[in-house]
Amino acid sequence: MYKLEKSIEIEQHGNVQCAHGKVAVQGIGMSVYSFYVDGLLIDTGSNSLAEEFQSFFRELSVEQVALTHAHEDHSGNAAWIQQQQNIPIYVHRESIANCAEDGNYPFYRQALWGQRPAFIAQPFGDTLETKSATWDIIATPGHTTDHLSFYNRATGAMFTGDLYIQTKTKVVLDEENIVHTLASLKKLLHFDFEQVYCCHAGFLADGRAKISEKIAYLEELEGEVRKLYSQGHTDDAITKAIFRREYPITKVSGEQWSSKHIITAFTKQFKQES
Ligand SMILES: [Zn+2]
Repeated sequence: MYKLEKSIEIEQHGNVQCAHGKVAVQGIGMSVYSFYVDGLLIDTGSNSLAEEFQSFFRELSVEQVALTHAHEDHSGNAAWIQQQQNIPIYVHRESIANCAEDGNYPFYRQALWGQRPAFIAQPFGDTLETKSATWDIIATPGHTTDHLSFYNRATGAMFTGDLYIQTKTKVVLDEENIVHTLASLKKLLHFDFEQVYCCHAGFLADGRAKISEKIAYLEELEGEVRKLYSQGHTDDAITKAIFRREYPITKVSGEQWSSKHIITAFTKQFKQES
């Protein structure tokens, strides 16, 4: 049987309470964050950390919930919140139907994040109002097609869900389109912000610099892929040449997580250009 190790820590940065949940299965550890600011809860953590996140939520006075996307580690406790109090839960319009059913995803993700129960969500407008701020709801597809980022106009804080995660991305989920991720990262730079709240890396005081570094990394990667592609190499050959080794998650996930998804998104783009 799988034994899960679980913990949660609460940190405060500015006016934002950050709940840092951790799960580990057989030595593979993952972090996931939920943020609370000005009556707004941004993402709800995973159901595998239900007790931990619920003890955090109980101390808050949540008036509305905003989900960056529908993945189970962000929406895992939305149903519980809905049972406790009748408040709006917002998600990208395209994921409302998906959220209305229990989550359906592979076993390795269930082992880590638990089951995501169904809940009723509603679509965002272009902006969201909290007591002391107006927020921009920014379409930032890439990690998923339903991915959104939230910008607090009053404080300049940027909440980026799973758009950033880390600078040097080496594996992505099969549904991620890295070409769109790159465009979304560039789109964020049109907003005036320094601090980023990332759902897996947490609070980043130098978030703008981190996002710029990720853009530079992905552009350099794109250049390398373009060179090998123009020499006639296949996606498999380009993947091996650039990433050299296969990461454990690739096998564990039956290739749902793979470096090759990064390469194929770029070469698909090159094919469309020519
Ligand atoms: Zn995600």
